[in-house]
Amino acid sequence: MRVTDLTLTTFKWRSPQWRTGTNVFGKPVNLGIVTITTDEGLEGHSFLGSSRQGADEFTKQLIDYLKPIVVGADPTDTGALWEKMWKLRRNVTPRPIGSVDVALWDLAGKIANMPIFRMLGACRTQVPAYASSAYIETPEGYGEEVLKFKDMGWKAYKAHPHGVEKEDIEICKAMRKAVGDDYILMLDASWRYPYEAATRIGRAIEELGFYWYEDPLIEEDMTSYEKLREKLDIPIMATEYAPGGLYGMAPWVMHRATDILRGDVAICGGITPLIRLCHMADAFRMKCEIHHGGNSLLNAANLHVTMAVPNCEFYEVFPCSGANKYGLVEDIEVDSNGMVTIPEKPGLGYEIDWDLVEKDKVEVIK
Ligand SMILES: [Mg+2]
Repeated sequence: MRVTDLTLTTFKWRSPQWRTGTNVFGKPVNLGIVTITTDEGLEGHSFLGSSRQGADEFTKQLIDYLKPIVVGADPTDTGALWEKMWKLRRNVTPRPIGSVDVALWDLAGKIANMPIFRMLGACRTQVPAYASSAYIETPEGYGEEVLKFKDMGWKAYKAHPHGVEKEDIEICKAMRKAVGDDYILMLDASWRYPYEAATRIGRAIEELGFYWYEDPLIEEDMTSYEKLREKLDIPIMATEYAPGGLYGMAPWVMHRATDILRGDVAICGGITPLIRLCHMADAFRMKCEIHHGGNSLLNAANLHVTMAVPNCEFYEVFPCSGANKYGLVEDIEVDSNGMVTIPEKPGLGYEIDWDLVEKDKVEVIK
């Protein structure tokens, strides 16, 4: 079987505007569908773009650099094709590489008539979800939202707070007060604290019994991460956007600069490097907590990797309002026990809403 074509279909993504402390999401963008077709009629799909950064920003990289690698190839050569794509990263960023890799895995699953997580080596079929917050104005607002998700049966809640030391500590106190001592809470600082403040905030949330402390410092500053990790008992989670992708993770492990590694198919460049990253972490008895994927089909790809590794504890739902879901007939849902179950269908196992795509189609780029 050979790949005969790779196209990008773009359609309008209308999403309400929302934000974290620093980033605004939900401006009108075009979401892209990467379609890989074969000489035997099977197709693989993935989405390209997020509600912050539409597919159009990646069109040239996709069509000029990645399409020539994939067309004519055996679509199940996912490892070899990923190596070729990754070597082009002077000209191509990880997101289009990730979307092509995910579409190839979707296709491989359809060829094998297996869900991707089973091809990768299934570890489980369910995972607990955590609610990952958007920006909320007041500490009480965060407290109310945690309580809402706890009452809905979700297992954990992570705040993206304001990025201001005193306000963030107040937010964390309000969250703990709202749900009591036993509920799992995390803080994601989105790289906004100077070292001294990061130390004080880390000690405060240790006392509040928080579960992990995510991205307190900028990721260029591995030295301060090493110092911070030595001072604090709470597990530190870093490397969400660490330079170098999979290959940039080795020094973080060797320097003991983080307790938990981080990755997803969009930022790492696909399922192929993400499963390798999780396995590397596992060899060091470290967790690799998988980040959200920025769109619904990449979230599904993340879910497949999550089910195929023993060392990712949670599935991230970001934002927990659901504003980042778009373009599928049925999206990933969290059940009343706070769990997400993966479908036992070939490939990614989620159906694109082609009626919606047809209605709001912008163009098909070949
Ligand atoms: Mg984060």
